[in-house]
Formats: sequence, structure tokens, C-alpha cells
Amino acid sequence: MSRVAIVTGGTRGIGEAISLALQEMGYTVAANYGGNEEKAKAFTDKTGIATFKWDVGDHQACLDGCAAVAQALGPIDIVVNNAGITRDGVLAKMSFDDWNEVMRINLGGCFNMSKATFGGMRERGWGRIVNIGSINGQAGQYGQVNYAAAKSGIHGFTKALAQEGAKSGITVNAIAPGYIDTDMVAAVPAAVLEKIVAKIPVGRLGQASEIARGVAFLCSEEGGFVTGSTLSINGGQHMY
Ligand code: NDP
Repeated sequence: MSRVAIVTGGTRGIGEAISLALQEMGYTVAANYGGNEEKAKAFTDKTGIATFKWDVGDHQACLDGCAAVAQALGPIDIVVNNAGITRDGVLAKMSFDDWNEVMRINLGGCFNMSKATFGGMRERGWGRIVNIGSINGQAGQYGQVNYAAAKSGIHGFTKALAQEGAKSGITVNAIAPGYIDTDMVAAVPAAVLEKIVAKIPVGRLGQASEIARGVAFLCSEEGGFVTGSTLSINGGQHMY
């Protein structure tokens, strides 16, 4: 029987590449998304992967959404917590709403999705959770106290939950991408991006598929001895 994987924010950007990589491994994939219907439809038309819409920052929506996926596809073995947003600004200009939304979706989403799926993984004695952190959670970034705090929180969350899952065959790991060529990075002003690329030793942005290969390994049978780790995929920008 094929294992079932959920990828949050799995219909575009890095998430789309992760969904495709897990599908290539023979897993049955459910791609969650937040609201971009056009991208979700184009993604399903292209890949045949089922999509499920809910807000990962909403606790009950995650419980209901995961139950719907399990009913449609089978018990959930793998969760990739990839959905994320930015609401950048220096502290002086950042509203509480900017802070709260980023914490609610980026960090809260990991808690909500893990709550919805961890118990089942434990009962069945096998599971894989991969949380997408960020180089900016490791190193900090000007104008991103909300995002850096949420992503840094993901790295702590990963190490704590890894300890809870280890005896039950559940691995919990994080990936910390550097700057990857997606819509999120396209939103960074060109002059700022130029300065960022100049600091990347390999001299270019990363590709979503390069993150997806790392996720695929962590979700494989062979990845069972890797838990509580953070894999930095950043072109050498931050050696941590
Ligand atoms: P994109 O902005 O391209 O895509 C974000 C995805 O998250 C979309 O699928 C979106 O759904 C989904 N999403 C957003 N909010 C919610 C929500 N509340 N509930 C469910 N889904 C939601 O992002 P990237 O592909 O660039 O980034 C993916 C992850 O990688 C994020 O966690 C990001 O922080 C992280 N990352 C990205 C880096 C980069 O350089 N791009 C660097 C480091 C980390 P919809 O399509 O419906 O809007």
C-alpha cells in the first residue's frame, strides 16, 4: 500500500516541487493550499494530485482537513509543513496583526498539522514530519522579526517533537532553505535581491526542486535514522 503524504502550501513554489518529488517516490500525495484557486486548479490539471483547501493557521480546519484527506486517500504517514507567508517591515512599522499572522500560519501551522496527524503515526509505528524553516530563522534578517521568530521557532519545535516521536518510528526534521526562486522571493525589491545574491557563494538563487530533493530523502524509508536535524540548503550562504 502506498504511503499517504500531505504537503501544506503544496500547489505552487517550493511546495509544488515537494508534492511532485513525493509523487515520484510512489507516495499518494494530498496538496493543501490556502486560497489561490487558479494555481491549485492548474496544479491538479498538470499533476493529477488531489488538492485540499484550508488555512493551516486554523486549528480546527487542520483537524477537519486532515480527516478529509485520510478519508479520501488513507491514513496520513507523512506531513510536510511548507505553507508560509511573509509580512515584512521594521519593528517600528510592524503591526500586531503582521506579527500574529506570521506566527499563526508559519509556526502555528506546524503545531496544528502535527496535532492532527502525530497520534495516527504513533499508532501505526511509522511517520515522517518535515518542517520548512528558513535561513532567516537561523541567521535573522532585517525587517523580519515576525518571520525570523516563527522560523526559528520551527527549528526548536522540530527538535522537541523529534524526541517525542523517536521511539515510535516517527522522524521529525527541518529544512532551512536559503533564497529560492519562487513568488515569495519575486516580491523582494530587485535592488535588495541583487545584494542578497552577491552574498550567496554559489552565485545564484536556489531552485524549488533542490529543496524538494532534500525533503524526499527525509521522507524516505532510508531516512529513518535522521531525526531532529536541520538540513541547510542555501548555496553556502549561512554555514550553520
Ligand atoms: P510561496 O509564496 O510561493 O507559496 C506559499 C504557499 O503557502 C502557497 O501554496 C500558499 O497557498 C500557501 N499558504 C500560504 N498561507 C497559507 C495558509 N494560511 N494555509 C494554507 N496554505 C497557505 O512560498 P515559497 O514556495 O517561496 O515558500 C514555501 C515555504 O518555504 C514557506 O514556508 C517559506 O517561508 C519557506 N522559505 C522560502 C524561501 C524562498 O526563498 N522562497 C526561503 C526560505 C524559506 P496559496 O497558493 O493558496 O496562496
